[in-house]
Amino acid sequence: MINQTLVLIKPDGLKKSLTGNILTRLSETKLDIVAAKIVRVSRQLAEEHYRHMKDRPFYEELIKYMMGYYHKKKVMALVYWGEDAINKVRQISGATNPEEADMVSIRGQYGRITTKGVYENVIHASTNESEAEREIKLWFAPDELIVDIYPVKEVKSDKLLRVWV
Ligand code: UDP
Ligand code: MG
Repeated sequence: MINQTLVLIKPDGLKKSLTGNILTRLSETKLDIVAAKIVRVSRQLAEEHYRHMKDRPFYEELIKYMMGYYHKKKVMALVYWGEDAINKVRQISGATNPEEADMVSIRGQYGRITTKGVYENVIHASTNESEAEREIKLWFAPDELIVDIYPVKEVKSDKLLRVWV
């Protein structure tokens, strides 16, 4: 089944100069990249992304981790599309806990657990179709994808926009 999945290279992945390595590992899946960008992560975006973790004891640390507690406060967001994309990317990413992850998975190779107990596991990947839809719509606007995956509508807006001078 063809589907799409949100991938985030988390702040530790970027800070450790792992962007190229992670993208190379992901290219083993032979999936298509249909969107990509570097994002400055606000608290609001991090909280919305991890809203299902709100009751967990490490929630506040997780939010700080996603906003980037190193000076490079950024995440790389991508959408991968193709046959069984969600499972293929989860598979190559490895288990959530980097110590339990297969050592040749991305998280097994590059992740660590901080002394505060946060799993710095360098990558996020959606787990199922509904999560992928929610997350792709959260991180990307329709025009930032090169394919129309989900239905869109056109709205007139008098919103203040920032444009190049
Ligand atoms: N996490 C953590 N400690 C835990 C569980 C999760 O620090 O005991 C962090 C970790 O960075 C993980 C994120 O919270 O990637 C989201 O957790 P989830 O259970 O959704 O795992 P994932 O889907 O990322 O494998
Ligand atoms: Mg998850």
